[in-house]
Amino acid sequence: MLDKHGIPLVPSFASNDLGEILSESQRMRRPLVLKVMSSDVTHKTEKGLVAVNLASDREIMLAFAKLAESVKRQGIRVDTYLLQEQARGVEFMIGGKKDPVFGQTVLFGLGGIYVELYKDFSLRVCPITQGDAEKMVDETKARAFLEEGGFRGKKADRGRVVELVVKTAKLLEENPLVTELDFNPVIADEEKALVVDARIIVESG
Ligand code: ADP
Ligand code: MG
Repeated sequence: MLDKHGIPLVPSFASNDLGEILSESQRMRRPLVLKVMSSDVTHKTEKGLVAVNLASDREIMLAFAKLAESVKRQGIRVDTYLLQEQARGVEFMIGGKKDPVFGQTVLFGLGGIYVELYKDFSLRVCPITQGDAEKMVDETKARAFLEEGGFRGKKADRGRVVELVVKTAKLLEENPLVTELDFNPVIADEEKALVVDARIIVESG
């Protein structure tokens, strides 16, 4: 779904096999992240299913063993292990929700675990224009990272972030069966804006 809408995902490789993961990891830029994907789990971090900062083969092997032990102990069904390059930059979130009255809505805010705490996000009903997306990013505190100079030495490219909001709104608009969408985080610096974690709920139609 992301590919179809030109939404860039951080370089990722899915497999359940440690040998395959190690061999693919040679072609990826380190440090890497290894996580367990499971349709049963919404918040992977809380279940100890995300290992970051993996710089060597040994660290990847240890992380795999630790994650495998963790899913076994908690009785979690594994869809796949996912190996990713570790993105650096500012964490944003782009979300979507199908409202029973307004239809598809799109959300934007700072990402990570504090979104729900700060309640600092902007919301629009789809479809949206480029101008709407620009207003959306300018309405939130996230704006500080997108302005000239950035914030505390961190800066992300406003155009790329805006473009991602527009593309996400298009995805929602063209997929009326999507009831919930969560790109959290989207990690952006001055050169790119990449989806790192995506959760999309589709109702059976
Ligand atoms: P979940 O939201 O289910 O706990 P995530 O995949 O979002 O799992 O990972 C949790 C956190 O780990 C992210 O918010 C981010 O801070 C960090 N993280 C995960 N994957 C990456 C990645 N590829 N690059 C950089 N940071 C990552
Ligand atoms: Mg996440």
